[in-house]
Amino acid sequence: MPGLEDLYREIILDHYRNPRNRGELESPPAHRSEGFNPLCGDEVVLTFTTDGTTITDLKIGGQGCSISQASASMMSAAVLGKSTAEIREITKTFKAMMSIHEGEMAAESDDNATLPQVELPLGDLEALRGVVKFPVRIKCATLPWNALLSGLDEAN
Ligand code: ZN
Repeated sequence: MPGLEDLYREIILDHYRNPRNRGELESPPAHRSEGFNPLCGDEVVLTFTTDGTTITDLKIGGQGCSISQASASMMSAAVLGKSTAEIREITKTFKAMMSIHEGEMAAESDDNATLPQVELPLGDLEALRGVVKFPVRIKCATLPWNALLSGLDEAN
């Protein structure tokens, strides 16, 4: 079994304790999207504004475990000021990183060398790579991203 220190890496705790872009924008005019993960009790509330092509402001509300809230915080920093096309690419890359080991035995993913390589620089999000060793937590990490995708779909 991999150690918890792999999962709760320092950078994850930093985002959990000092979440970026925390709050809520007035909706409307901001778009609003919510996500809920009943397996863990995680809740994410996204409010964001766009100018038609770019996310101009984004705030994160809600509560939950450190993985879900850190992922939401990292996501907010990664997508703010980006075009929706770029955001969809980042989301795809992140979800690919999170799903690569789905269905495999945990023992096989112990070796860091077998962890997926991603083409886009994900910055702090790379810290969540270790979550794939804990399949039950993957939904925590992807929750805010799924909320963002559905929010983008509704905004278009
Ligand atoms: Zn969770």
